[in-house]
Amino acid sequence: MAFEGLADRLQSTLSKIKGKGKVTEADVKTMMREVRLALLEADVNFKVVKDFIANVKERAVGQEVLKSLTPGQQVIKVVNEELTKLMGGEQSKIAVAKKPPTVVMMVGLQGAGKTTTTGKLANHLRKSYNRKPLLVAADIYRPAAIKQLETLGTQLDMPVFSLGDQVSPVEIAKQAIEKAKEEHHDYVLIDTAGRLHIDESLMGELQQVKDAVNPDEILLVVDAMTGQDAVNVAESFNEQLDITGVVLTKLDGDTRGGAALSVKAVTNTPVKFAGMGEKLDALEPFHPDRMASRILGMGDVLTLIEKAQTTVDEEKARELEKKMRTADITFDDFLDQLSQVRNMGPLDELLGMMPGANKMKGLKNVQVDEKQIGHIEAIVRSMTKAEKENPSILNASRRKRIAKGSGTSIQEVNRLIKQFDEMKKMMKQMSGMTAKGKKKGKLK
Ligand code: GDP
Repeated sequence: MAFEGLADRLQSTLSKIKGKGKVTEADVKTMMREVRLALLEADVNFKVVKDFIANVKERAVGQEVLKSLTPGQQVIKVVNEELTKLMGGEQSKIAVAKKPPTVVMMVGLQGAGKTTTTGKLANHLRKSYNRKPLLVAADIYRPAAIKQLETLGTQLDMPVFSLGDQVSPVEIAKQAIEKAKEEHHDYVLIDTAGRLHIDESLMGELQQVKDAVNPDEILLVVDAMTGQDAVNVAESFNEQLDITGVVLTKLDGDTRGGAALSVKAVTNTPVKFAGMGEKLDALEPFHPDRMASRILGMGDVLTLIEKAQTTVDEEKARELEKKMRTADITFDDFLDQLSQVRNMGPLDELLGMMPGANKMKGLKNVQVDEKQIGHIEAIVRSMTKAEKENPSILNASRRKRIAKGSGTSIQEVNRLIKQFDEMKKMMKQMSGMTAKGKKKGKLK
C-alpha cells in the first residue's frame, strides 16, 4: 500500500507521546526530528518538509498544546491538521461549466496513465453525478492510444470521438466540442498527446489546443510512483499551461507518498483525484483530510462507506442480513457476498482504510490470494441449484463431480463446504443468542 513506510514511522513516533499527560518543548523537538526524517525518506520535497516542521513546531510548543489537558493527543491533532493543509485542505472538485459542456483537457507524459484515467474519469462522472461525457481521442502520437480509448469507450458503453491520427489535435478537439453540443454531452474529456519527456513541441501543441477550446479544466496526470519527478513534471506543466488540477495515478502501488504530499505545496495546484488501480472504477476523489488520517493510521471510514454505497446493492444487503439472522444462507448468497466485496476493490487496500488495521497482527501485509477466491467462485458455480440450497446432499460422488467441473481438487471442495458449514453454525449460535437475549428481556 502507498504511504506504508511513512505511515509506520509517523505512527510509531507519535505513539510515544500519545498518552503523555505532560509534553515538554524538548519532547516536541525530538519528535519533530523523527517526523522530519520520516517525511524526507518518503521522498517529500525538502523545502516542503522544512516548512511543515516549522509550522507544526510553532503550534506544538505554543499554548495550544503544552497547556492543554491532553498534550500528547493535541500534538497528533496538529500533525493531522498540518498534513491535511499540506495536501490542500479542502477537497478540490472537478470544474462544472456554467454552460455545458464542461471541457476538460487531460495532459501528461506517456505512461503516466492519462488515457486510462480519461476512461476512469468518464466512469466516475457518470456513476457519481449522472453525467454524460464524450471521450475525445486526440493523442495522435502514441501508437495505439486512439484504439485504447476506443476500447475503454466500448467497455464503458460510452461514445468516443476520433478522426484518426492524420488530423491535428486542435481540429479534433474543436469538432468534438461541436459534436458534444449537438448531442447534449455535458462533459468533453480530451485525451491529448503525451510524450516521453517534456519538450517544446509538446507544450506548443497543448497550448494550441488550450487556446482553441478554452478548457474549463486542465488535469495533469502524473505517476505517483515517480516521486519527486512527478512534482517536477507538475511544476513544468503548470508554468507552461497553468493547469487547474493534478491526478496522481498508481497510488495503489508501494509509492512512498512524496508526490502526494508535495504537489500542492510546490505547484499550488490541488490534487483532485487519485488512481488506485488499473480497473475503470479505480479512481477516487482526493480528500486531503482523509488521506492524512490514513497516513496517521486513523483510518478512512468515510471512503470505505462511500465505496460500499456505490458497489453494494442495498436491497441484497438487507435480504442477506435477514438470512443471516435465520442462518438460512445458501451458497448463492455466499457467492453474491464475495463478489460484492470484491467489487469494492482489492482487499488489502480496503484493510488499509480501517482505523488501526495496520496495527493488528496478522492483518499486516495481508496478501489476499485472488486465485483462491477465483477457485471458490468456480466451485460454487459448478454446484447444481439443489446443492447450493441444500449442501447436506453433497456426498462423495457429487463432490468429485464439482472438483472436476471447477478444475479444482476434492480437498478444496471439502474445505469450502466445511467452512460454509461452520459459518452457518456460527450464525445459528449468534441468532440463538439474540433470541435468548430477547426472551430474557421479556421476563423482566
Ligand atoms: P498514458 O500513456 O499516460 O495514456 O498511459 P496509460 O493510460 O496507457 O497507462 C499506462 C499504464 O499504467 C497502463 O498499464 C495502466 O493500466 C496503468 N495505470 C494507469 N493508472 C493506474 C493506477 O492508478 N494504478 C495502477 N496500478 N496502474 C495504473
